[in-house]
Amino acid sequence: MYDRIIRHATIVRPEGQIRADIGIEDGKISAIGELDGQATRAETNASGLVLLPGFVDSHVHFRCPGHPAKEDWFSGSKAAAAGGVTSVCDMPNTSPPTVSRKDWLQKEALAAQQSIVDYGIWAGAAAGNAEEISELIRERLACGVKVFMGATTGPLLVDDNTLAEHFQLTPGVMGVHAEDETVLSHFRDLGRGQSTPDHSVLRPPEAAVKAVRRLIELCETWPREVHICHLSTAAELELLRAQKKQLPITVEVCTHHLWLSTQNALGNWMKCNPPIRDEADRLAMWEALEGEIDTLASDHAPHTKEEKERGYWDAPSGIPGVETTLPLMLRGVWEGRLSLERLVALGAERPAQIFALQGKGRIDVGYDADMVLVEPQAMRTLQARDLQTRVGWSPFAGWKMASAPSEVLVRGRTVAREGKIVADAGSGRKIPLGPLTKAD
Ligand SMILES: [Zn+2]
Repeated sequence: MYDRIIRHATIVRPEGQIRADIGIEDGKISAIGELDGQATRAETNASGLVLLPGFVDSHVHFRCPGHPAKEDWFSGSKAAAAGGVTSVCDMPNTSPPTVSRKDWLQKEALAAQQSIVDYGIWAGAAAGNAEEISELIRERLACGVKVFMGATTGPLLVDDNTLAEHFQLTPGVMGVHAEDETVLSHFRDLGRGQSTPDHSVLRPPEAAVKAVRRLIELCETWPREVHICHLSTAAELELLRAQKKQLPITVEVCTHHLWLSTQNALGNWMKCNPPIRDEADRLAMWEALEGEIDTLASDHAPHTKEEKERGYWDAPSGIPGVETTLPLMLRGVWEGRLSLERLVALGAERPAQIFALQGKGRIDVGYDADMVLVEPQAMRTLQARDLQTRVGWSPFAGWKMASAPSEVLVRGRTVAREGKIVADAGSGRKIPLGPLTKAD
């Protein structure tokens, strides 16, 4: 007896699309095929709809502990669910930062109480914590170690020695914010006299290129899995094209670097790190979606309107995005710029593989029933009042994008319908992590 059968859906996987019924049992996909006449407690006719795997966003900042006025695990996970994201991995720059076992456990307790989607939690690299973080990763608690080479303050900003130490010692996936701090501070000093400098000039492509070059050098000396977060320039792509084949480096692109450029001129509203680049870089990211790019993420980093309305030097960097990633990328699909197959590879299957998120990222027998039903070609204009994120704004308000998914399921339970949340706080859980790929 199935708990539910979804009939006649068009199922999308990286290798192609099939039309079939899906049987769900105990939160998992237990059958795919022709299920006529099979006993079930509930059924849905999904004829005419497309069924995607729940999206896996390996780069979100849900801000808690520390900053519930910006977001917390309930509001952040509601935003994720409304946008078809059923798994998230949260970054360590919270308050306190996630740099020890105690910090990690404190954050996990909050997530367990509040999240309505399933989650992983990163640990942050800091001076002297390589051993403690290594244990968290070996025990398959932390989903990876995040390293900030620039763009942050406090213990998370690491110098080259700490970077090298984590490079050698910490197992699993190392996610890197690759902007070189010496280049950043040089340009920051040059801009000091101006009240409203151009953020993209203060954080030029050279900063990213220098950091990626250093990562490649380190990886040549100590090969290890490195995941470069939010790649944003054609110049970084060129470097990786020359090197990547031999090295275990994977690459993430963020939605805002695909959809916004310096031509959009939104001032502090689009101030983020790495910055929004020019049109040539933006178009280079679209081209690389079919090649070098492995994963798509939101880098959902909400700040309040009040904070964003301050002057340049006081306005924090970061923009919300977890609920607009899939709708914007589906618009790209409906407009013929990307295939559905490639989209589910970038947004679900590859991130689940890279971070060994067990049961996630694919519609197949034995996988979690994390699924998103969408109506092909359905579009809307995004209204800020429809957003679930606590901050209530988006750089994409007023933009055309795909309609909210018809239904979003996490382990067989419906969490959102047409953008409305129907799940309770605490129904999400920590994603089990598979074995480490190397003998670390
Ligand atoms: Zn981030």
